[in-house]
Amino acid sequence: MRKKIIIGNWKMYKTNEEAKKFVKLVEKQYKNVPNIIAGIACAPTLLASAKSKAKKLVIAAQNCHFEEEGAFTGETSIPMILDLGVEYVIIGHSERREYFNDTDEVINKKLVALLAHGLTPILCCGESLKTYEKGKTVDFVKEQIVAAFKGISAEEAKRVVIAYEPIWAIGTGKVATPEIAQNVCKEIRNIIKDLYSEEVSNEILIQYGGSVKPENIKDILKQDDIDGALVGGASLEPNSFLKLINL
Ligand code: 13P
Repeated sequence: MRKKIIIGNWKMYKTNEEAKKFVKLVEKQYKNVPNIIAGIACAPTLLASAKSKAKKLVIAAQNCHFEEEGAFTGETSIPMILDLGVEYVIIGHSERREYFNDTDEVINKKLVALLAHGLTPILCCGESLKTYEKGKTVDFVKEQIVAAFKGISAEEAKRVVIAYEPIWAIGTGKVATPEIAQNVCKEIRNIIKDLYSEEVSNEILIQYGGSVKPENIKDILKQDDIDGALVGGASLEPNSFLKLINL
């Protein structure tokens, strides 16, 4: 059986003091049942603080550069992330694609580099409202996935977590119904099956993200092809986050 993975994406929120206080408090009350991975993705400045307090929770970076080092002002390299003991890295979030020009090609380079370093990538994909309304969601997501997995072996592909986040459901309070989310996640599994094999598609973890809250997470996680959630707003407050992970 596949594990469940619930990650809170703090985006550009919180200070070090707030991060330490949050993780300490959540660690105390988190039940940590087997087969559930729970954690926080935070800004680079918070990674060391969050990691210092995390025992049961995993900590994720929200982005990385694909080069080992170099003259890339403002960027964070994978060795820098590894240096902190962080194991997960989000790549290709729609906010990065939209505001920071993270193209499919760049995301592919990041995916290759993360896997080469033994980190677990959380690869985001998802369509705009316009694409959704045109009924082109699956074609669009397929293009993103095929491009991201270019040059990745089957063994490496199994280690990727895919997060399906329809842009129209992010921060809008407009959650995709569990049925819509399930249908797309099932299609994503089929895309992986076509690219690799049934075995890889059965093993790969697929999250849903977009207005996930304590009130709707159970229905979302009940779906056959949804193995977890990537949560923005509802992960910022400890009690709300605890309700998402103490399932
Ligand atoms: P919300 O949960 O705030 O809609 O954000 C989703 C998201 O972008 C997580 O990466």
